[in-house]
Amino acid sequence: MASSSSTRPPPTKVSRSASCLCGAVAITITGVDKGAVLCHCSNCQKSSGSSFAHNYRFLDADLTFDKGEDAVTRYEDGNTTNGNVLARHFCKVCGSNVYLQPCTPPRMFILHTGGMQDKTQPARELFTQNKHPWVGDVTPIKAKV
Ligand SMILES: [Zn+2]
Ligand SMILES: [Zn+2]
Repeated sequence: MASSSSTRPPPTKVSRSASCLCGAVAITITGVDKGAVLCHCSNCQKSSGSSFAHNYRFLDADLTFDKGEDAVTRYEDGNTTNGNVLARHFCKVCGSNVYLQPCTPPRMFILHTGGMQDKTQPARELFTQNKHPWVGDVTPIKAKV
C-alpha cells in the first residue's frame, strides 16, 4: 500500500541566521522548521550558564558559515539525559554558545536563539522535570527611564 506521504510535497525549509557576542562567528541554518523550545536539561543549564536554553530546532538541515568557521570549537557532550551525544559548538574567542548538532541521525541542527536578531517564541519546553520552579514567576525590576 502506498504511503500518503509519498504524494505530499516536501516540507518547506526556513533559514535563520545568528552570530556570537564578539562577532567572530556568523552562521545560517536552513532546514525544516521544528520550532523553538526551552530546554531545562542540566547540561543546557550548565552550558548556557543560565536557568535554561532557548533552542531553535531544524530537521534535514544544512549549516553555512557566513563568517568564522575557524573560530568555532566543539565539545562532544555524551552525558545527556537521553543518552544522545550532542556536539556543542561555541566561539573560542568570546565563549558564546552558537549551535548544537546531534552526533547521530536524524540530521538536525539546533540554534541557540540568543545569537539571533529576531527571537522566536518557544512552542514547547523540554525536560521540565528539571525546570526551576520559579522560572516565569519572578517580579521584574522596573527600569528607570
Ligand atoms: Zn565570538
Ligand atoms: Zn538541553
